[in-house]
Amino acid sequence: MTVKLYDNDSYLKECRATVLSCEKKDSTTFELILDQTVFFPEEGGQTPDKGTINGYEVVDVQIKDQAIIHTIFCKDSTDPFKKDDSVMCRIDWEHRFSNMQQHTGEHIFSGFVYEKFGYDNVGFHLSDSIVTMDYNGPISMEEVMELEEKCNKAIFEGKKVSACYPSDSELQALNYRSKKELSGPIRIVTIEDVDVCACCAPHVNNISEVGILKVLDVTNYKGGVRLSILCGMRAFLYFRTCIQRSKEISHITSKPEDEIVSAVEAQKATIGLLQQQIFSLQKDALKEKVAAISPDAKNVVLFTKNTDTNILRYQVNELTESHPGYCGIFNSTENGYNFIIGSKEKDCNDLAVVLRQKFDAKCGGKAKMIQGSLVAPEEEIKELFP
Ligand SMILES: [Zn+2]
Repeated sequence: MTVKLYDNDSYLKECRATVLSCEKKDSTTFELILDQTVFFPEEGGQTPDKGTINGYEVVDVQIKDQAIIHTIFCKDSTDPFKKDDSVMCRIDWEHRFSNMQQHTGEHIFSGFVYEKFGYDNVGFHLSDSIVTMDYNGPISMEEVMELEEKCNKAIFEGKKVSACYPSDSELQALNYRSKKELSGPIRIVTIEDVDVCACCAPHVNNISEVGILKVLDVTNYKGGVRLSILCGMRAFLYFRTCIQRSKEISHITSKPEDEIVSAVEAQKATIGLLQQQIFSLQKDALKEKVAAISPDAKNVVLFTKNTDTNILRYQVNELTESHPGYCGIFNSTENGYNFIIGSKEKDCNDLAVVLRQKFDAKCGGKAKMIQGSLVAPEEEIKELFP
């Protein structure tokens, strides 16, 4: 059994420890068990602490039968530690403190959800990039906003956080979250006036250290809701990015920040109108070319530029109604042409074979219509539509 020093003092950043065992895991990693540790393992949906042991990077921390197993990265030694060696453990404090902020934030939100609705947090995930909580009942967006505000007010008030191991009889009398699922010695984490919950992880001592709690997203999930939140420095960095983005959009649209949404909507509407105009201009330009074709022509070929594929397809279909041979439109691109060829009476796949042989065309389709791309001079393409 490893003594969990973070249990009593979540602010302990380093400790000396004695090696109980060190076993090679693979070519570059070893599994190290110590008599005591400051490293919190992966547990309860939370990713493990990062840090070093005697300078070796700790890449994973797991708990198994009350033994905490540190996986260290070590490629330059076949035998980094022996039993009874004294080692120095140091956690990545910035990473740990961020986890403490996010995790305590979860307690605050879940405590208020439990108080208001009686819902449990049935799924929790805390990684380096995301914090999500799942509740087993519906919560509306309006209610989420109210809860978020309540959480931040509690944070500003600075409620104390404490942890203890109550006796069985004390536990019986206690109303706390996660009451049913656990066995063995139960650690109770209490945030005054906010939450009482069974939990093994490190938390901040006073919720004012959470700084701020912001809900990022709410989605329906398994009959309840999944929320994602940001606390502390993560929330601060997110706000910084949001403000930067907002300023950039303000600069691009030449509108003050509080008008950027309507400015973008107006631009979107303008783009829609312009697209419609371009579409009809392309259609008219193609119609003019079609009007110049002799009505007696068996095969027809036209060359266009920057024309929408839907217009090309529509026009090819129209042409096949009055010309029995191959009707093709070749739309010029940066290198070569995109094309659509149709026919009422001929098999377009026969022409596809020729296009592949002659110009190495990439094309496919059905007997009545093929489409593809090729690189070839206009004059040589015309020869295929006599
Ligand atoms: Zn906790």
